[in-house]
Amino acid sequence: MGEKQPVAKGAAVRSNRADRARKVVESQAVKLHRFLPSGITVWTVVGRDRDFFIDPGLENHRPYCSCNDFHFRVLGGLIPECYHLLAARTASENEMYSVIEFSDEEFPGFLRALISDNFSQNS
Ligand SMILES: [Zn+2]
Repeated sequence: MGEKQPVAKGAAVRSNRADRARKVVESQAVKLHRFLPSGITVWTVVGRDRDFFIDPGLENHRPYCSCNDFHFRVLGGLIPECYHLLAARTASENEMYSVIEFSDEEFPGFLRALISDNFSQNS
């Protein structure tokens, strides 16, 4: 809605991303799903039309996000990270995420829903 051509494109995109990330963190939209008793964890960030699957890359591997920005701009080397990853990193550093606990039996259903939300569009 009301999208205008930014004048200073690089700077506008950058501050916009930081701003969006901050809003995501403040609204507790970064979620850590913890399955018990296994202790498996899955991070998501609530988006406008779906929840994005995130790997914040906390254990020395590269982070991942299922959004289009990540697939096109991050993997394409245009930006260092999408705002979901920025939000997830900020939230985990400041412990500002919501933790939701599930039983291990719920894991397959959870994963199926997350994957179908994120990867089953034919567009
Ligand atoms: Zn993302």
